[in-house]
Amino acid sequence: MNAVVKTKHTKGMEFINVPIPKMGPRDVLIKVNVASICGTDVHIFDWTRWAQHRLTPPRVIGHEFVGLVTKIGEEVTRVKAGDRVSAESHLTCGYCYQCTNGYAEVCKNFKLLGVDHDGTFAELLVLPEHVLWKNEPNIPDEWATIQEPFGNAVDTVLAEDVSAKTVLILGAGPIGLFATGIAKACGASLIIVSDPNNYRLTISKKMGAHITINPRKQDVARLTLEATKNNGIDVVLEFSGNNQALNHGLNAITPGGRISLLGIYERRVNIDLNKDVVFKKIRIYGITGRKIFSTWHKTSRFLSSGLVDPSPIITHQFLLKDYEKGMRLMKDGKCGKVILKI
Ligand code: NAD
Ligand code: ZN
Repeated sequence: MNAVVKTKHTKGMEFINVPIPKMGPRDVLIKVNVASICGTDVHIFDWTRWAQHRLTPPRVIGHEFVGLVTKIGEEVTRVKAGDRVSAESHLTCGYCYQCTNGYAEVCKNFKLLGVDHDGTFAELLVLPEHVLWKNEPNIPDEWATIQEPFGNAVDTVLAEDVSAKTVLILGAGPIGLFATGIAKACGASLIIVSDPNNYRLTISKKMGAHITINPRKQDVARLTLEATKNNGIDVVLEFSGNNQALNHGLNAITPGGRISLLGIYERRVNIDLNKDVVFKKIRIYGITGRKIFSTWHKTSRFLSSGLVDPSPIITHQFLLKDYEKGMRLMKDGKCGKVILKI
């Protein structure tokens, strides 16, 4: 089968022919219809310091997808041939303290699809049945593939209620853009989006942003105060992984407000804990992965009900063999979500 493989300990990847992965009794063989590119895949392509420490080539990459079950192991009971599935990318163990205590998203032993286990940028994929998600029939493939990152946005937005609240979204990458649509659907009264990338700010308007701010040219904290009658913002959602943006959020947040952090920072961050956290009595949530599977239920309903239409965010489609074009667009920030037809 053809697949995009990280073959060497250097920058780049290869589109090559590899053997079909082997199945165990609880595994499922899936024919991938559509996959989508995540920032993680670009890190692996570029062979960043993180990737060098995290991944051992050769590895088929990718963790977002939708596909059809083609064969099941002899002990599989939850899916059958022909089911259209996506999957939780955190391949959890099911027995550690976190898995058995309602926090499977931070399973001690989880393996990451496309990093520790051969991934979705391939014609065929093998996964254990317990991570599979059966898709609603009315969700098209182009949307079904983005449910995994959409779930990150769901948990970041809904760490607390946002209805009739004012919300500042930092970073309008694909996940910040999903969050904009989710905040809108959940009845946020004011949505402000900050990103230095004007292409992405334009998409955020389509997703429901009332005000967009370019932090390179405008003062985020001042504009946010002006828009909230000098109260400051109720909710900050951090999707940039940028220390400066984080401080914009902490300056803009109203005392007693909350901030949810999904963005991943390259190095340790510098914030004024006394002034911006303790004396403001704000609540901080670290968000990682998705709640398994309660977030998948919410994601599926946001999409299948039409509450959130992610079409403006899905800006480009390529064939799998042209994956490098997608990676380049992502590095340049001239895209929303890029999907790959297998
Ligand atoms: P992305 O890199 O596409 O988007 C980040 C956006 O932040 C970009 O549009 C960029 O222009 C913007 N940005 C940069 N500097 C900024 C600033 N000073 N102010 C405002 N915006 C700024 O990433 P994504 O795929 O949308 O993911 C969002 C973040 O979440 C990333 O940091 C990613 O690594 C992280 N992430 C975390 C998890 C998790 O489980 N915690 C999962 C997926 C992604
Ligand atoms: Zn576990």
